[in-house]
Amino acid sequence: MKAFELIHPQTVAEATRLLAEGGYDAARPMGGGQDLLGTMKDYILTPDRVVDLKRIPGLSRIAYDPAQGLSLGALVTITEVEEHPGIRRHFAALAEAASSIASIQIRNVGTVGGNLCQRPRCWYYRNEHIVCLKKGGSKCYAAPDSAENKYNAILGGGPSYIVHPSDLAPVLMAFSAVLTIAGPGGKARKLPIAEFFTLPGEGSVTRENVLQPGEIVTEVFVPASPLASRSTYLKFREKNSLDWALSSVAMALETDGGVVREARVVLGGVAPIPWRAKAAEDALRGQPLSESAIRAAAEASTEGAKPLSQNGYKVPLTHALVRRAAQVLAAGPRPAFGGGEGGIA
Ligand SMILES: Cc1cc2nc3c(=O)[nH]c(=O)nc-3n(C[C@H](O)[C@H](O)[C@H](O)COP(=O)(O)OP(=O)(O)OC[C@H]3O[C@@H](n4cnc5c(N)ncnc54)[C@H](O)[C@@H]3O)c2cc1C
Ligand code: SF4
Repeated sequence: MKAFELIHPQTVAEATRLLAEGGYDAARPMGGGQDLLGTMKDYILTPDRVVDLKRIPGLSRIAYDPAQGLSLGALVTITEVEEHPGIRRHFAALAEAASSIASIQIRNVGTVGGNLCQRPRCWYYRNEHIVCLKKGGSKCYAAPDSAENKYNAILGGGPSYIVHPSDLAPVLMAFSAVLTIAGPGGKARKLPIAEFFTLPGEGSVTRENVLQPGEIVTEVFVPASPLASRSTYLKFREKNSLDWALSSVAMALETDGGVVREARVVLGGVAPIPWRAKAAEDALRGQPLSESAIRAAAEASTEGAKPLSQNGYKVPLTHALVRRAAQVLAAGPRPAFGGGEGGIA
């Protein structure tokens, strides 16, 4: 690992100033360090300065108000999300997603902010000897005709085909979460999470979100909504011990007299951003949760998919997850998430 300066600021203002002084790649914020330190050990990221956010008071707070919603400080750990009684009861999909992440040890240390901002797992990106497009090179080694792209994107890809690795992100997108982003000079802005992540073909191919130099996520706010109380997160992974999603679905439904009034279907593990499957939502909206409506939504969930040479399996896999998620929610209002019984398909 390259030598670096480690600083422990006491305020958000100090942290953002220290980060802005360094520039985007030369100074990186650190939450739990579970991803950042790994990328530094492998020389994927080589910052001169690491700004540890953990000593800043107030960023570890969870607050739940039934009328307003749920506020999560950026330093709230994934375990705290998984175990919080209010989240388990009122935002079951969020607790399910948290429980599906990595191992207990990683969840105890990894933070909400770090989970949303973690870097891609594409194995070409993670190989220190390969300089692909995302690292400033000229070629994507997972391109459509490559021999090794089974874990890459089927939706929204090009010129990079990463999939976004966060399990919290699809659920937070389904719940229309709003992020607070603090920047240098005391600036702060609120941003719907749907505008936070960037496709490689739209923003810079070397980044995954809109954060500017010196900016950090300080809070994730989930507004109170009937959608949250009838929600689930299903994830399929290759290794049952711990693994990122090959495909996942966050689904939230608001029903009225057995008919779907509003639907959110957001896919994980299949696109460079959490992917809102609007055609699946349209297939559910205004329909009773019958098998035919569920089947139509499942088929529609991958509309526009362009599988690469090795990852066509993600299409039927995603259909199965969407179908199962809708069947779970069709069974009626969800009991509080009890841990262990959800999350993994
Ligand atoms: C073996 C293993 C398995 C895993 N499996 C999963 C999985 O299945 N699902 C899943 O979702 N995740 C998985 N993870 C990722 C894990 O959840 C993340 O490493 C963790 O959430 C990152 O959180 P952190 O606080 O440690 O982030 P850090 O490592 O501290 O930071 C990660 C990145 O985000 C930036 N960052 C951190 N905090 C902020 C902030 N507040 N604002 C702006 N930028 C910030 C850092 O600069 C860095 O680039 C796995 C990790 C490992 C090591
Ligand atoms: S998908 Fe992205 S990270 Fe992976 S090789 Fe292609 S450019 Fe690099």
